[in-house]
Amino acid sequence: MNDPHIDIPVRAPAATSADDTVLPFEVAALDLRGRVVRLGPAVDEILSRHDYPQPVAKLLGEAIALTVLLGSALKIDGRFILQTQTDGPVRMLVVDFNSPGKVRACARFDKARVASAIESGKADAGVLLGHGHLAMTIDQGPDTSRYQGLVALEGGDLEDAAHEYFRSSEQIPTGVRLAVGEELSAGARHRWRAGGMLLQFLPKAPERVRQADLDPGDAPEGTAKHEVQEDDAWVEGRALIETVEDVELIDPSLSSEQLVYRLFHERGVRVFKSVELVAECSCSRPNVEAMLKSFSQDDRDHMVENGKISVTCEFCNSNYLFAPEDVQPEPAQDQPVQDQPGQDNDQDQRRDHG
Ligand SMILES: [Zn+2]
Repeated sequence: MNDPHIDIPVRAPAATSADDTVLPFEVAALDLRGRVVRLGPAVDEILSRHDYPQPVAKLLGEAIALTVLLGSALKIDGRFILQTQTDGPVRMLVVDFNSPGKVRACARFDKARVASAIESGKADAGVLLGHGHLAMTIDQGPDTSRYQGLVALEGGDLEDAAHEYFRSSEQIPTGVRLAVGEELSAGARHRWRAGGMLLQFLPKAPERVRQADLDPGDAPEGTAKHEVQEDDAWVEGRALIETVEDVELIDPSLSSEQLVYRLFHERGVRVFKSVELVAECSCSRPNVEAMLKSFSQDDRDHMVENGKISVTCEFCNSNYLFAPEDVQPEPAQDQPVQDQPGQDNDQDQRRDHG
């Protein structure tokens, strides 16, 4: 059955590349929906500020692109937090997406193990992450329950984890591509860029969602396919997203619209309003002050160095200095702390013991 014809204005894809945006799109003829993320200054700001070893920065960049692709699907305001916990040289990645478009991120890693992975030429994502899990949390405010999805990381990269998550938990045929690169220009410092695309098969008839067991893209040529027959539309969609090259996702001269047009123009592709992204942390002096006041006297005493308490935000490296007497809890009365926006970020601030 054909969809009834709807008149939608047709135009050529915009040639202007808009960095730090997510562009939603739809290929109605194939029941495909997706998003393209393109990150320039935002990802550069986050990664440059941390000055991580190059492969760690690249991995965190991929996590940022993936988080934006997933978090930008939130229909109402909220936070989407992606976090890995693994036994590899990079033991934790945290990316925090605050709708509609604020993102911050950090990594924890073992310097010596990362250095030796780099030295032995084995610093790819799967090795750096190792084994453990990836958690995705949706937090839509204090009066709502948190949703958490978990997927195992077993030596693969973040694309593998995303495919596995959608296959096993959401049961939505999904293809994800992620890319991170450095833009080098003469005389200037290099700049980080990142990009990604998510493509999902969402037919109106749920029985059309049948998936093979293999992860998209992992089957070598000639491998016997799992018996379940996939819908032709998804076979086509998946084949198309698999052709997307890293350079197409990060090339500043190829716009997101041009990229989706390049892939889907034969079927017709419709784009929606893009969402702007910005690197912005939610830490603040009042938040840190409230956190310190919530600690026990003993904990605070242990934080004093040279007569000051110093707290550094792990996400943005902002440093907050307090005199111990300024962070004494106030005598019980009203609770001004409750009104501080972002008070749930207590765990984000780490003690800096120098
Ligand atoms: Zn911060």
